[in-house]
Amino acid sequence: MEGGPRLSKISPESEEYKRGRKFDKDRWTHWNVFGKAAVSKQEFIERLENKDTAKYALDLLREGLPHVDITPEMFPIWKEFMDGLLESLSLAYQPGTVQSERVKGVSNAVRSLPAEIWRKMLAVHVDKFEQKLEKFGERIPELMASFEDKVLNAIEEKRLPISPELLKERIQQTAVVLDDALYATLEEYSGQFDVGTGFVAISEDVPDKQLEKVFTHEMFHVLSGRTAVLERDRTDPEWATTTKHQRVGTRFAAYDAMTPRRFRWLNEALTEGLTIQLLGEETSNSYRDERQLLALLLKRGKKPIPQELFVNAYFENYEPDQAAPIPAWKALVSAIDDAYEPGFLLTLDKFVQSDGVKAATDFIKTDWRLLSWRVHTKNMPRVAI
Ligand SMILES: [Zn+2]
Repeated sequence: MEGGPRLSKISPESEEYKRGRKFDKDRWTHWNVFGKAAVSKQEFIERLENKDTAKYALDLLREGLPHVDITPEMFPIWKEFMDGLLESLSLAYQPGTVQSERVKGVSNAVRSLPAEIWRKMLAVHVDKFEQKLEKFGERIPELMASFEDKVLNAIEEKRLPISPELLKERIQQTAVVLDDALYATLEEYSGQFDVGTGFVAISEDVPDKQLEKVFTHEMFHVLSGRTAVLERDRTDPEWATTTKHQRVGTRFAAYDAMTPRRFRWLNEALTEGLTIQLLGEETSNSYRDERQLLALLLKRGKKPIPQELFVNAYFENYEPDQAAPIPAWKALVSAIDDAYEPGFLLTLDKFVQSDGVKAATDFIKTDWRLLSWRVHTKNMPRVAI
């Protein structure tokens, strides 16, 4: 190509790819504990007002309470604080309460708290987090060893299309950290895998008996196939490069205008399905609708589609030096085309993005042609919710 490409796909097995990710991993600074460094009351109130973190903010207050010495002089402020907290807690479970009203009393009370009490409450939170971290640090090596054993076993029984070498390498590239729920903006809330750096973050909120499941789910994201792209900065005299990921598993990132976000539901359905299978569990409450949609997609077309085709595509790495860089993905798409109609996987994804997984499930249960018709009809009538 003239002048060399600005973007080029690179093999996830190449040294260049591994170097780039290691560089990003070493610079990673996301991990933090709320209150360890100085935080303002306002920063706390913002978390109290955020629907995803409000519960954890209230927990911080409730857990701090027994550790504060209350003197008679403090009593009026303390009473105001307690009233606000109790009111907020009683409102917290009532549907229809506006979030801002829900936390107003507590926010006001926090503002009026003496600085020393506030500092004490933050210190209690940091202590509690550090205790959780210690336990977490002890469990992760066990969970990793058990995951490795189970996956090796599945590879041997030809249930997973990856090599033992890749498994080992991906484990080596991964760091598992516990995240403070007051800082975490985890996509799945309980956990998240950041493919750019190789960090798996797990929320402190995950109960002990759920930890293995959340961990295993995230580790399947770690093992899943990737399409990696090297971006060259032409304005830089040395053509500095950045590694980006166009695809992880079956999920395509919103990389640019030409490649919108795609197939997240499918990626999570497969990830959770593999997790259930590896742990030998009967079922799970995670991504239930997504898994049901996948199960229907396998059997509701003109002919059944083997699940293996999905699993092969999920684990496939894009290898730019091969004549066919993603044969398993091609085989999957063509099987879906044959069972339904050309382009059906994309049609289904468009529908899921506009109307949701549940509505898509209802259509596939009755007649998938109706779903296709809706997507392809210009003035698409909205589905009643
Ligand atoms: Zn996931």
